[in-house]
Amino acid sequence: MITDSFGRVHDYLRISLTDNCNFRCFYCMPEEEYDFTPASRLMQTEEIVQLAKIFVEQGVKKIRLTGGEPLVRKDAAAIITALGKLPVELVITTNGTRIAEMLPALIAGGIKTVNISLDTLQPEKFLFITRRDLFHQVRSNIELLLHHKITVKINMVVMKGLNDNEIKDFIDWTKHNPIQIRFIEFMPFSGNKWTSNKMFSLNEILATIAKDFTMLPVKAAPHDTAKSFMIPGHEGSFAIISTMTAPFCSTCNRMRLTADGKLKNCLFSDGETDLLSPLRNNQDILPLIQSSIWSKKKELGGQLIEHFEKLDADSIKNRSMITIGG
Ligand code: SAM
Ligand code: SF4
Repeated sequence: MITDSFGRVHDYLRISLTDNCNFRCFYCMPEEEYDFTPASRLMQTEEIVQLAKIFVEQGVKKIRLTGGEPLVRKDAAAIITALGKLPVELVITTNGTRIAEMLPALIAGGIKTVNISLDTLQPEKFLFITRRDLFHQVRSNIELLLHHKITVKINMVVMKGLNDNEIKDFIDWTKHNPIQIRFIEFMPFSGNKWTSNKMFSLNEILATIAKDFTMLPVKAAPHDTAKSFMIPGHEGSFAIISTMTAPFCSTCNRMRLTADGKLKNCLFSDGETDLLSPLRNNQDILPLIQSSIWSKKKELGGQLIEHFEKLDADSIKNRSMITIGG
């Protein structure tokens, strides 16, 4: 079992397969020109599986593949197939562009839930946010997943003045579709131009939805990072991930492995522990994992302690989201 000094058991590992991506979402990538990590410095398929096995032996029950865009990695299918053989729930977060080609691999890997990031239902705004004209491809891939009875969760980062006026449209989408919309508070990362006035908070999201709908809270599962709600008469549901205004740190069970093999004990940790070099040198990895998690801070990596309106995003020491793996 992997525990921290606050008694939190860590049984959920998020593995970033790459920091490369076929999108350029401004809230995720650093502002300046960014060189993707060369393949030789990334964990190789065998190394990912080797590391995952160590975590699974220590009680990890769920693995999420993420990135960058996990499905742009050339050997993504091989990785999914190999990890699918481990006794874990395997899930993935993707921008949804490569679902059609990768569907056989997702099914072979036993993936039953796919989180797709989609911040707008308007093609022109989609192009503005991602700088790629692929809205219709993503939408049809969502339909494809639903057709194959794969659970779809939609991640929507809500940004004031950009897409907060679409919250109702997203809720309307759940009326006849068994999808869950996950509204995410915009978070600050290195170089992503976060300012508090661009944030649309949990309370603002709830107040917006309450204008048009009656919602009922759904009882949270033990490690849920989202507050979930249902709307009577809707096939789907929605949830809010309020990391900035109401974080879920007290029940956190997550660890993150970056694509270059560094363990981050929190999304906002300023430090990280290299596991890949020691693995390549045949060192024992387990003590490194244990001491990294033991040193996890109580909340938000010990950063972001200010009220969000006073937060100076430039004072946060962290990677950009694309290099952490969201
Ligand atoms: N490429 C995949 C995708 O877009 O789903 C996986 C990686 S992406 C970094 C994972 C999630 O992080 C996405 O849902 C994305 O919207 C979210 N994300 C990225 N930057 C964020 C930010 N600054 N605040 C909140 N969520 C963010
Ligand atoms: Fe790529 Fe996902 Fe980041 Fe957008 S949010 S740039 S799709 S990694």
